[in-house]
Amino acid sequence: MEQASYARRVFVLGMDGAGNFLQRLNRSKIAGLARQRGVVTLDAMTELPTISAECWGSMLHGVTPDKHGYHNERAGAERFPLDSAYPSFFRLARERYPEWTLASFTAWPPINYGLVEEGIGVHKHCAPDAELTDAACEYIGAAEDIRLFYLALDAPDALGHQSGYDTPQQHQAIAEAEERLLRIVDAIDRRGWLEDSLLLFVTDHGGGGEHRCNHGSDHPMDRTIFWAAAGPCVNPNADLEGLTFKNTAAVVAAALGLPIPESWDARVPEALFRG
Ligand SMILES: [Zn+2]
Repeated sequence: MEQASYARRVFVLGMDGAGNFLQRLNRSKIAGLARQRGVVTLDAMTELPTISAECWGSMLHGVTPDKHGYHNERAGAERFPLDSAYPSFFRLARERYPEWTLASFTAWPPINYGLVEEGIGVHKHCAPDAELTDAACEYIGAAEDIRLFYLALDAPDALGHQSGYDTPQQHQAIAEAEERLLRIVDAIDRRGWLEDSLLLFVTDHGGGGEHRCNHGSDHPMDRTIFWAAAGPCVNPNADLEGLTFKNTAAVVAAALGLPIPESWDARVPEALFRG
């Protein structure tokens, strides 16, 4: 039996290392868009440790980092993917729907080659942020249809390591990343897909907690993240209290009508969807 879905498509639009620093932008366009068409929180929590491979791994595989077992050292050393007992949301979608178009665009290659399973027909593209955005817009413009799409930009984290997290230089990089994500939203809109899509805006961790130019600790600056959902299926009064990054996996699955694996820790926030 088919489980009801809330959206025909899900786009997970991410940036690395932006924490909850959207609040420092003159006017965050992503937060604005989410307030208009959904919900946004600046008080979500990422997983521990607050490191990219661990946290993106939890977002994709729906479990805490100790369970999925992927970490940054492994990401640097091995090109080949995690053999996780916990399916990513891509594998979950593919097992049910062999015909669906699934795509993953990442500026940091270990996400695509370490965390998104190989051999399940996910269209993968890796490039620096500017080229990645161009390629993603082109892909969205030309695809017959897309059911699940993920993009992760890198510059906010790179700037944090270089100039410090939650600094004017990093805020500039976050504002630029917002512009890039909005170009993706425009590309989706040009296809007429906004009316039946769920858009999620995410980041994997913050920074500047224990070290000005680093992250990884459980300090609130490293751990606190923004999280936003937009689309006609989103209940604007949803309560995002207590949301953690891994819950994103459950939101993706529920939106597309995919049963949430019992093995996942991820849960859908209370009353996130309308109806
Ligand atoms: Zn980093």
